[in-house]
Amino acid sequence: MSHVSPPRKHDSGPRVQSDTADVNGPEVADSDAFFQKALQNSSQARSQAQKVEALLKRMTIEEKIGQMTQLQIGMIANGKDQDIRIDPTKLEKAIGRYGVGSILNVADQALTVDRWHEIIGQIQEAATKKTRLGIPVIYGIDSIHGANYVQGATLFPQEIGMAATWNPELMKRGSEITASETRAAGIPWSFSPVLDIGRQPLWPRFWETFGEDPYLAKVMGVAFVRGLEGSDVASPNNVAASLKHYMGYSFPLTGRDRTPAWIPENHLREYFLPTFAAAVKAGARTVMVNSAEINGVPGHLNHHILTDILRGELGFEGFVVSDWEDIKKLVNIWHVAATEKEATRLAVMAGIDMSMVPSDYSFSDTLLALVKEGAVPQSRIDEAVRRILRVKFELGLFENSMPNAALKAKVGLPESRQASLHAARESMTLLKNTNNLLPLSKDRKVLVTGPTADSLISLNNGWTYVWQGSEPSLYPKDRLTILRAIEAKVGAANITYAPGTRITRPAGSPSNSTPTSLEEEVDIPAAVQAAQAADVVVLCLGEGSYTETPGNITDLTLGEPQLKLAEAIEASGKPVVLVLVEGRPRIINRVVDKAGAVLMAYNPGNEGGQAIADVLFGDFNPSGRLPFTYPRTPNGLITYDHKAFETEDTAFGNTAFKPQFEFGEGLSYTTFAYRDLRLSQKTISGNAELSVSVTVSNSGRRAGKEVVQLYVSDLVASLSPAVKRLKRFAKIYLEPGQSRTLTFNLRRDDLSFIGTDNKPIAEPGDFDVTIGGLKDRFTLK
Ligand code: BGC
Repeated sequence: MSHVSPPRKHDSGPRVQSDTADVNGPEVADSDAFFQKALQNSSQARSQAQKVEALLKRMTIEEKIGQMTQLQIGMIANGKDQDIRIDPTKLEKAIGRYGVGSILNVADQALTVDRWHEIIGQIQEAATKKTRLGIPVIYGIDSIHGANYVQGATLFPQEIGMAATWNPELMKRGSEITASETRAAGIPWSFSPVLDIGRQPLWPRFWETFGEDPYLAKVMGVAFVRGLEGSDVASPNNVAASLKHYMGYSFPLTGRDRTPAWIPENHLREYFLPTFAAAVKAGARTVMVNSAEINGVPGHLNHHILTDILRGELGFEGFVVSDWEDIKKLVNIWHVAATEKEATRLAVMAGIDMSMVPSDYSFSDTLLALVKEGAVPQSRIDEAVRRILRVKFELGLFENSMPNAALKAKVGLPESRQASLHAARESMTLLKNTNNLLPLSKDRKVLVTGPTADSLISLNNGWTYVWQGSEPSLYPKDRLTILRAIEAKVGAANITYAPGTRITRPAGSPSNSTPTSLEEEVDIPAAVQAAQAADVVVLCLGEGSYTETPGNITDLTLGEPQLKLAEAIEASGKPVVLVLVEGRPRIINRVVDKAGAVLMAYNPGNEGGQAIADVLFGDFNPSGRLPFTYPRTPNGLITYDHKAFETEDTAFGNTAFKPQFEFGEGLSYTTFAYRDLRLSQKTISGNAELSVSVTVSNSGRRAGKEVVQLYVSDLVASLSPAVKRLKRFAKIYLEPGQSRTLTFNLRRDDLSFIGTDNKPIAEPGDFDVTIGGLKDRFTLK
């Protein structure tokens, strides 16, 4: 396996050199301990491989197909919510009769660690003691922003907020905690990270991504995987990762979830493959498949993507799991197979090793029939089962699959909460601050208003205690909303609250056809009246919680009730600080110009209220940078790395690229100055590296962090080049007056793009390199 032989130390691509010790480089550095461990692991891997082969030889075809089958927890349990209990008859059918190899998820909501231990303990007891070969189950769960299905776990900013930190160390620390709290519940496998690229802001899972740029997403994605899997995935601190949703899921033409995307292969490789390629190289154990289609080919039967590219080119040796019910969907949604049997054959032969069935036994029965008829060869079954067993061995499940009572104490530690707060603070992105309206002084009279001001649901979004994040009773009582955090900071006496509008949900649980949120006015005149009596208004707008199909929208514009509230508040003439708590950039052009300050908070998690208050009142100096282009108009969806000709229509004098805010943008309470951009050579040839150095100083009066961003522009190329592309970054801390010189090394492949033959090519010619407004040119020979 790629992760069995010790990784080469400089495998993971570019890194930053600098004269300082505390630079956060773009890649999380591999420690020597990591490599020592990997060496030890390689001899372990050999013996594990022998065990896998020995076990495979003893397995019947039914037992093998059982390993390829994943069922949802309702298939072995009864009851709702916390009253869920294993049903011995159902369990015996799944584990005893069908030899099912994997179970997933929660039935409705997050469970206590104790309940998890009971459930996992009973499953593993059955699998290891009551079956012929005693193969443990691999339980999988969506730990998307923390162990969000374990009560009391630490929740972090969603991925879009983690991307805004531009700090892979914080991402790694966050996913280490996620791993340890997931494993503490007895669960060794997380369905994260999401490595889809967020270039379609309507898509209801936009906030689950690291944003629009493949390089930033790659660096953060690798950090996520390293934190989850660590150097020893068997340890009680680690879990197996699942890279999802491989690939091209995030770019539906209409923006609606699981609808067609058209992505030519060279663009697939340019924008959507790099995150997965880097995370496979970093050793990720499993991959989950794109639940939609590209170019008319549903992800689940795309042999080219699942086998030729993933196995042949990337050398992935872990296993591939389908997404929810996706083999059946080949029949009833995509209409590419007439029967489930044909769909099963197509999917397994395309490269699906495990089917998230998840609610019946049809996959097992059908696949068995296919093998008996010779329509699916035994060798393909052996290949899939070998991969699954190997991951089970690597996770140490054969030695010990039972939950460990001693680990319970690891859930929700105070230091983990601190790490989440730290990440939430660093994600805060200050987009506008006219006349230094922020930070606010603590003796001002403040009106707090808007539908996201007093909502932990908006701070967290989906995948929080329940799928849609929508159950208020499950949120911890001791976490602060924005309103409560402001009151705690400056005292309730100076604060008034009038919501103005609210975001509600339709009655009943969300189905695929119901929207998760509705907006309505509460009492806008009351809010306006309260504004008149205040010195400043903190106006908290944004979204409720949603994910997947229930989060579909047909208009990116912020809801009318909120815009109406904002306009009415702004008409009062009081200074307005606009705080955006949202998972995708909702259009705000009607109200943004009159807001004195704009703070983008994304979905910062349970510590987000605190983090926002810290920034508003100056207890924390913001250092987040936008990980996507914030559009100004619903149809002005252009990414930062667009083509030059997209931005100007010279004949008519139009400028098409006028985003509300730009990718990489973000203000600080201090200022930074750049000087001395230097290139080691003006001409590079062969595989020579180019060193680019720059000096950055804190020219203001407060200590702060700056994100130094290096962009490269290819001036002439055989495929129309992007105006610029991010190639390196580093987040650095500077005291007032302090300077640092950073050196970045660029390699030839940093100058390449994917040509029409779908291969990378670095074409000779001139390139510009830009850092912090400074620019220089070099020539590639
Ligand atoms: C989602 C996946 C998730 C799976 C299991 C699917 O609907 O697309 O991201 O891992 O459900 O919950």
